[in-house]
Amino acid sequence: MPKTTSRPSIPLVKISARGASRLKDGHVWVYRSDIVSAEDVPPGSLVRVLDHRGQPLGDALYSSSSQIAIRLIAHEPVAHFPALLRERITEAIAYREGIVHDSNAYRVIFSEADFLPGLIVDRYHDILSMQILTQAIDAEIVRQTLTSELTDRLHPASVVERVDPRVRQLEDLPPRASGLVQGEKASTIFTMNGVQFQFDALEGQKTGAFLDQRENYAAAAQYAHGDALDVFCYQGGFALHLLPRCSHVTGVDSSRAALEVADQNAALNRRDQSQPEIEWIEANAFDLLKDYSASGQRYDTIILDPPAFAKSKRDLDAALRGYKELNLRALKMLRPGGVLVTCSCSYHVSQADFLGVLADTARDAHRTLRVVEVRGQAKDHPILLNVPETAYLKCVISIVR
Ligand code: SAH
Repeated sequence: MPKTTSRPSIPLVKISARGASRLKDGHVWVYRSDIVSAEDVPPGSLVRVLDHRGQPLGDALYSSSSQIAIRLIAHEPVAHFPALLRERITEAIAYREGIVHDSNAYRVIFSEADFLPGLIVDRYHDILSMQILTQAIDAEIVRQTLTSELTDRLHPASVVERVDPRVRQLEDLPPRASGLVQGEKASTIFTMNGVQFQFDALEGQKTGAFLDQRENYAAAAQYAHGDALDVFCYQGGFALHLLPRCSHVTGVDSSRAALEVADQNAALNRRDQSQPEIEWIEANAFDLLKDYSASGQRYDTIILDPPAFAKSKRDLDAALRGYKELNLRALKMLRPGGVLVTCSCSYHVSQADFLGVLADTARDAHRTLRVVEVRGQAKDHPILLNVPETAYLKCVISIVR
């Protein structure tokens, strides 16, 4: 019998020269506007990406509805997708073994940065929390492979899925509820840098903890002293780390639910009655800082960790004004020799933008900032240099004169 050459059954997607040059530059996304043809490509399928001349550029995950139509997953043809997923999970776990210290809570898989676009997995001691962000990762076979591989490797008591309804809408996926996907255990206690935290997978705020600040908590604690104010404290991440170093710690947040967990966390860590208690204040941080700075309140350590002000590029100017206002008020309240720990988690505000705002703020406040550390997200949230979107957190620690 003569040999027949079988055509690959994988769907083909042709992209424009601009899309191809983006991939050649090391990025992994191709926008819908750069798709030349994607006929009969099923939503969420593994596809072969071809440049405008028909040359293959790699295999990718396709979304039929997102503006990010293509997320490259391998430069070579993928022979067996579930096997590739298992390999990538093994690699992600091995990477963390070398870089996560003093914590049983960390990000196990960070989407593009772990070559698994559309998937986030966080570990909170014996509970894994999973977020599925694309059509391809939502496929039943992918879900099954992920859960079985993560369970074999990490032996969690349970796996929960956290659903963002907006993401499912954008990906044109049917609604789905957050909840346990394996096991029964829905709450646990995890430890980072020797500090204990309550984690409740189903109740309360949907975010879990801010694992990306883990290394910044420890860094901030090194400089903290005296009277400390943790603004936008959420469940007390910074406040609890500062407490052993400070004479008094106040945490401020507008969410009562977050402050209730913060108070439980404080009780978990209270070793003896002589230790000062953290004071939690439910307030709008902008109003509180305005009142406190006007009334002459003084602090030795101030943490500013607001939510992302710039959700898109359009918000950049407003975001910079927001950062300026907060930092200006903080500088007014810091005593000489005081410590300012100021953060931005807006991807659209670059590190240079953020340092620029701080410089303007210092000038206007007639204070001098000595920057002791310019930091980013914890190392379990890796940054791909050629995928700038993977870098988002800024944390600048300064001593104020
Ligand atoms: N520092 C925290 C994370 C902060 S996340 C940690 O390390 O865990 C941002 C927090 O800001 C959320 O808890 C949210 O409830 C709070 N927040 C948002 N807008 C606010 C406002 N105007 N005033 C006070 N808190 C606000």
